[in-house]
Amino acid sequence: QADTAMYRAKESGRNGISFYRPSMQETADRRLTLEKEIRQALKEQQFVLHYQPQVDDSGRVVSAEALIRWQHPQRGMISPAEFIPIAEDTRLILPLGEWVIRETCRQIGVWDRENRAIGHVAVNVSSRQFRQPDFVEQIERILADASLSADRLVIELTEGSVISNIDDTVRKMRDLQTLGVKTSIDDFGIGYSSLSYLKTLPISQLKIDQSFVKDLPEDQNDAVIVETIINMAKSLRLHVIAEGVETEEQVRFLREKGCLSYQGYHIGRPVPAADFRN
Ligand code: C2E
Ligand code: MG
Ligand code: MG
Ligand code: MG
Repeated sequence: QADTAMYRAKESGRNGISFYRPSMQETADRRLTLEKEIRQALKEQQFVLHYQPQVDDSGRVVSAEALIRWQHPQRGMISPAEFIPIAEDTRLILPLGEWVIRETCRQIGVWDRENRAIGHVAVNVSSRQFRQPDFVEQIERILADASLSADRLVIELTEGSVISNIDDTVRKMRDLQTLGVKTSIDDFGIGYSSLSYLKTLPISQLKIDQSFVKDLPEDQNDAVIVETIINMAKSLRLHVIAEGVETEEQVRFLREKGCLSYQGYHIGRPVPAADFRN
């Protein structure tokens, strides 16, 4: 997207029209500032993880998703939607992503020692991070450093990440499976039109995107899509979880259709580790 804008800026520049230039410059400046700030924030430990509870088939909170936030000294709490894309563009996602996994594993250990152990915690891994040649080794190392068994960690990947280099993905997912780390396809249903990757890849779980859950049970199209995903997951022997569950009616619909795991404001918002109750 940025490349296209840049191209248009150059083109129009050649024609003597500089309409795109100021905003392009502004965008570039803002990115550069943010890049510097993210680097600084990593050093000064301004990033925090919040944990959102997940209910499993037993109907209890047994797991969580770790979600990053940036506690900016001047601008307050910044959402990942704002800085993750820049971290991805600038490769800062590599140290940032590693920190997320380390911090999650550290927290799992803390809860274990406090006798309020959690089953597992899911972390979001961006495409660039997953594409790193030593990604699986990194996971293995972090788990070993934290003395955790591999089943305590779940890796959330988007459809876009897994299909971008299928051979590499197959290899990494097999290695993760051998290690015992489960993988979940985040935002399932919005990313990619072909489903053939589902039979090729050793995936553990599909996470139904919240956009399909939002208008349940009234929206008939969403109802059909969600029911179809649930049935497909079952047939493929994949675990299925719904995100963005906000109402009791949504829970009832999902349970009726056979999706017993879910996460959303109905159960709890993402909170700092100290406030997390399971
Ligand atoms: P995601 O992984 O799909 O996470 C779900 C998002 O939905 C989270 O937004 C969560 O706070 C929000 N959410 C949860 N329950 C509800 C609900 O009931 N209703 C509504 N309306 N929203 C709900 P958040 O925390 O702002 O994160 C946004 C996205 O940023 C995440 O989407 C994920 O793609 C990315 N992200 C977050 N943390 C990390 C991270 O550590 N690394 C990477 N690479 N990406 C991250
Ligand atoms: Mg996620
Ligand atoms: Mg999601
Ligand atoms: Mg999402």
